[in-house]
Amino acid sequence: MKAMVLKKIAQVETKPLELQDLPIPKPSSNEILLKVLACGICHTELDEIEGRKKTKLPVILGHEIIGYVEKRGSKTNKFKIGDRAGIAWIYSSCGKCKFCKSGRENLCPEFKATGCDADGGYAEYMVVPENFAYMIPDAFSDLEAAPLMCAGAIGYRALKLTDMKDGENIGLYGFGASAHIVIQLVKHLYPNSKVFVFTRRRNDEPSKLASNKGADWVGITGDTPPEKIDRAIDTTPVGIPIAEALRNLEKGGRLVINAIRKETKIPELDYAEHLWDEKEVKSFIDWSNL
Ligand SMILES: [Zn+2]
Ligand SMILES: [Zn+2]
Repeated sequence: MKAMVLKKIAQVETKPLELQDLPIPKPSSNEILLKVLACGICHTELDEIEGRKKTKLPVILGHEIIGYVEKRGSKTNKFKIGDRAGIAWIYSSCGKCKFCKSGRENLCPEFKATGCDADGGYAEYMVVPENFAYMIPDAFSDLEAAPLMCAGAIGYRALKLTDMKDGENIGLYGFGASAHIVIQLVKHLYPNSKVFVFTRRRNDEPSKLASNKGADWVGITGDTPPEKIDRAIDTTPVGIPIAEALRNLEKGGRLVINAIRKETKIPELDYAEHLWDEKEVKSFIDWSNL
C-alpha cells in the first residue's frame, strides 16, 4: 500500500512526510482492516510533525478516518465486510481500569492514540481494534464524516461538559474546526438558546462563518456581549479568553476550556470579577495524555 510516513521530527515547511510502499497490515483477532476512503487533517498533526506532541517514529499520521471494512480478525463481530467505519483519536485503551469502566477511556493510563502511538489514516489501509471503530450513518458522505471523528467529537464532548440547557445562552471563544460544528449542534439541540461568538479580529473569516452559521452576535475577544453568558467554550490556543469568558459569565455559569495547550499565560484573575457567584471552570483533555 501507499502511505505517507513521518520518519523524524522536522519543521513542516521542509515537507517531512515521505511517500512509501508498505505491506498492507494484517488484522489481529480483535481488529478490522479498513480501506481508507477519506482522512481529515488536524492541527495536532502539526504538533506531532514538529515535536510538540510525542509520537512513535516512524509513524503514519491521521486520526479522522473513514473507510470500508475489507478484512476481519477471527474474534470480531461488530462489522461486516463492506461496512463503512470511522476511526478517531482513541485507537485503544485497556478496557479494565476505572476510567474505561465509566466511559472515560480518554483518561485511561494505557490509552493509545491513532496516528501517534499506532499508525493512522494517511495510507491506503489501516487496522484498528473493532471496539474503537464506529458505524457511519449513510446521511454523511465520506468527506463530511471525516472531520466529525476529531473536531466534531471534541466539540460535542465540550458541549456536553458545559451541561447546557435549552434557553441558556452560550459564548464560543474561537471559531475554528471544532466551534463551527458546535454552533450547529447548539442550534439543533437548543433552539431557544443564543450563541455569542468571539473571534480574534473583526470581520475575519471565522467571524463571517459564524454569522453564516447563525450566531446571534459576533464580536472579538475583549468585547462584552449583549447579555451575560450562561455557558462558555474556549477553543483558542491563548490565555486571555479564559479571563474574558469568566468576566462575561452569568452567576453560576460554567466555562469549558477545550484546548490541548495554551501558548500564552492566563492573565491574573480577580476573585470578585472572574470567579465569585459560583462560576465554574472545567478543563478538557482532548483525548490525549500529555
Ligand atoms: Zn485531531
Ligand atoms: Zn483503561
